[in-house]
Amino acid sequence: LGEGSNDVVIVGGGLVGSLLALFLADRGRQVDVYERRADLRREGAAGGRSINLVLTRRGIRALGRVDLDRAALRLSIPVHGRMIHAKDGELTFQPYGRDESECNYSISRAGLNAFLVEAAERRGARYHFEQPLVGADLETGRLRFEDRRASGGVRELTAASIFGTDGAGSALRDAYAELPDFECSTEFIEHGYKELTIPAGELESFRIEKHALHIWPRGGFMLMALPNLDGSFTATLYLPWRGEHGFDRLETADDVRALFRDHFADAIPLLPDLVDEFFANPSGQLGTVRCAPWNYRDRALLLGDAAHAIVPFFGQGMNSGFEDCTELARLLDADPEGAPGASFERFARGRKPDADAIARMALENFVEMRDRVGDSGFLLRKQVEHRLEQAMPERYRSRYSMVMYSHIPFHVAFEAGEIQRGLLDELCAGLGSADDLDLDAAARRIDERLAPHLRAAGVTLDY
Ligand SMILES: Cc1cc2nc3c(=O)[nH]c(=O)nc-3n(C[C@H](O)[C@H](O)[C@H](O)COP(=O)(O)OP(=O)(O)OC[C@H]3O[C@@H](n4cnc5c(N)ncnc54)[C@H](O)[C@@H]3O)c2cc1C
Repeated sequence: LGEGSNDVVIVGGGLVGSLLALFLADRGRQVDVYERRADLRREGAAGGRSINLVLTRRGIRALGRVDLDRAALRLSIPVHGRMIHAKDGELTFQPYGRDESECNYSISRAGLNAFLVEAAERRGARYHFEQPLVGADLETGRLRFEDRRASGGVRELTAASIFGTDGAGSALRDAYAELPDFECSTEFIEHGYKELTIPAGELESFRIEKHALHIWPRGGFMLMALPNLDGSFTATLYLPWRGEHGFDRLETADDVRALFRDHFADAIPLLPDLVDEFFANPSGQLGTVRCAPWNYRDRALLLGDAAHAIVPFFGQGMNSGFEDCTELARLLDADPEGAPGASFERFARGRKPDADAIARMALENFVEMRDRVGDSGFLLRKQVEHRLEQAMPERYRSRYSMVMYSHIPFHVAFEAGEIQRGLLDELCAGLGSADDLDLDAAARRIDERLAPHLRAAGVTLDY
């Protein structure tokens, strides 16, 4: 294969790489995307990652910047809240937002990825499938790709701007490892996940509430399910790798049946292929990638999971990767005459505190989802928050709402959440029911404690 010199090379044509290709193509750059996998429009989705995921406001805004928000939402199902399945089968619905407009959208990973590839190609991006990056020299901008198609061989080229959107195990990031000031860590959690299918009912009907994220929280482990357009749900079982409810204890069909009989009894009729799927489907690892700096001078930049993979419990991994694109585009547009790479360092420095904050919140949300959504003290706090948000939305929005429904920087939302934790402790002390809350006294405390933080960050709650 011949050599070439390229304008923009994006390594990894997944969700973030393909959206980035759209942003850069719209700014007149010649974009070449190198992707390890085959073209998923022809080959179908490769297994191993979540089948569906939630798209939230940050992700939708990024799609809007390339005029694809409405078309993408047509591929999704609105999800208005959590449906909690207690051990005895009792159902409790916890709405997500202040009203129905504050909802999340369940969307197929492969469907959204194929949609973005298609759109990026239409706007001039060139995709090179089955060609993973196998080596990079950041200094010279020289990249090596292995051609895994029948023709085979290795392709070498140089690029003016290189973007690494090749996911949590990024090969481009490996090339940074040789740089003296580069730091990187990957921290796995003690839980893994496995996907299972709840098939559609008759005529593609939904067998459980369609517009909900279903959770079976069991303290230390949980089952979750999100709807698909065809009436099915993708269920995800989160278990520790080892221990009493661990994957290591599930060696036989009887072990799996017993776990479900004891803890997820109401899900058994929904999962006709439980045992077969349990042993056929892979178990996935979950972890947090933290690294810095994301840029190599003005030549290379890591975005999305390659820069900041997080655990999935806030549903923000893709959304935050999409927000990376919005933010980078804002910086590029602010300096149209500058060299494109001049924005890399500003992006990398400016965005890192937000990536660190959402990584932390995602880990905390895991504890909330698996252990606390079922407990009464937690429910009271949620009800108090709901009352505050209804009565004084300009003064108080929950941290969850700021993360999911606003564009407030993640680090500001994180710090606000710390202040709110203390406020809620005080407001809930001795309170029997959220109806007994003294709203005037609550407003005074919020004005004293939360408002100064938001003011200092230049943030308002009028979203
Ligand atoms: C169980 C689970 C549930 C999740 N749920 C949500 C959710 O609800 N909402 C949400 O926002 N996020 C969710 N996430 C996180 C989300 O999946 C990721 O944040 C998102 O996929 C990141 O996109 P990306 O494009 O950066 O990386 P990826 O999606 O990993 O894409 C990387 C791409 O690079 C390609 N690639 C890899 N190596 C190479 C190479 N050497 N050369 C060329 N190409 C390469 C890969 O084939 C892939 O196409 C979830 C994650 C998991 C595991």
